[in-house]
Amino acid sequence: MNLFEHPAFDNHEKVLFATDPETGLKAIMAVHSTVRGPAVGGCRMWTYPSSEEAVTDVLRLSQGMSYKNIIADLPIGGGKSVIMKPEGDFDRDALFEAFGRALESLGGQYISSEDVNVSPSDMVAARRATHHVVGLPDGTGDPSLGTARGVFMGIQAAAARGLGSEDLNGVKIAVQGASGHVGVHLCRHLADAGAELYLSDLRVDALTDLARELDAQIVENPEAIYDVEADIFTPCALGAVINPGTIARLKVRIVAGAANNQLETDEMGDELVRRGILYAPDYVINAGGIINVMGELDSRFDTDWVAAKLVTLKATLGEILDAAARENRPASLIADEIARRRLANAAREKKWAVG
Ligand code: NAD
Repeated sequence: MNLFEHPAFDNHEKVLFATDPETGLKAIMAVHSTVRGPAVGGCRMWTYPSSEEAVTDVLRLSQGMSYKNIIADLPIGGGKSVIMKPEGDFDRDALFEAFGRALESLGGQYISSEDVNVSPSDMVAARRATHHVVGLPDGTGDPSLGTARGVFMGIQAAAARGLGSEDLNGVKIAVQGASGHVGVHLCRHLADAGAELYLSDLRVDALTDLARELDAQIVENPEAIYDVEADIFTPCALGAVINPGTIARLKVRIVAGAANNQLETDEMGDELVRRGILYAPDYVINAGGIINVMGELDSRFDTDWVAAKLVTLKATLGEILDAAARENRPASLIADEIARRRLANAAREKKWAVG
């Protein structure tokens, strides 16, 4: 595997490969950028088929965090970590404590929170070895609630443009990953707003309970979620779900959801434009969680600040969607351009300040 030539390598400042044979830890921590402050982003645990796929994931996710944090105008950089889930039984607390030791070795350049398959209690275990963790139960708690709130508001902004009104009453929404941390909270917001929900997840029991609670329909075969005739498709599971195999199946006018890296390639953004489907760039719409954990970094970022920031984020997403419509270009591309411009400016400012 070539690292510096890797297609997802974007001059990441630092990539740490951390192992601990005793606990089975195999983690990769990627610090994409610290030009605006310490890199902050979640830790994901997944059964990766190969370390190459774990590397690709962490490189892409950490770049996405830099883009997300600078678009939301947060005084932090972007980073992310992945843990290759050990096979068989393992001591979860010991694994995350070992993760914490590796995190500590970065001296605060990277601060971790939760992502897929990682919960606040895992960060508590990591904290035994480092203070560089956020999203703690005695801190701002599970960031998924803030993410869900932000995605809900983003869906309203997308609906205002793609459906003519941000009122979601009676709007049909197909949610992928509905039983997940973000999915559950988001579905509750959407149901409260009167949306007609079609839900899929691999975790069937939790899905059945949620569907009953919200009077929603279950899409039994998770693969069939792409075929649901709805107004909005809301991916809240994993990335790369908009790909050549799924895009032609979508019968929706909007794609807007929490999942990171929804577009398998940049070309998928162009293809969505060609198909007249409005796309809310993932790292813009899903920044609510990182906004929420800011409170653990500095007491200035209190709940009033978080609430105001979510409103600003909704407006930012609206501006990006409006620019995309005006220029008939992918919103994902416009967001990337803004993020890269701001990162380059921040790097220049930092250089001047140091020089
Ligand atoms: P999670 O692991 O709690 O939930 C993911 C859900 O997706 C699980 O219930 C899982 O069973 C389901 N799933 C997996 N593959 C599926 C498939 N093929 N079809 C249907 N369901 C499937 O994770 P989460 O924390 O809710 O995060 C969801 C997504 O949002 C991820 O992409 C994550 O990176 C992104 N995200 C999360 C946060 C956050 O605050 N948790 C913040 C920003 C972005």
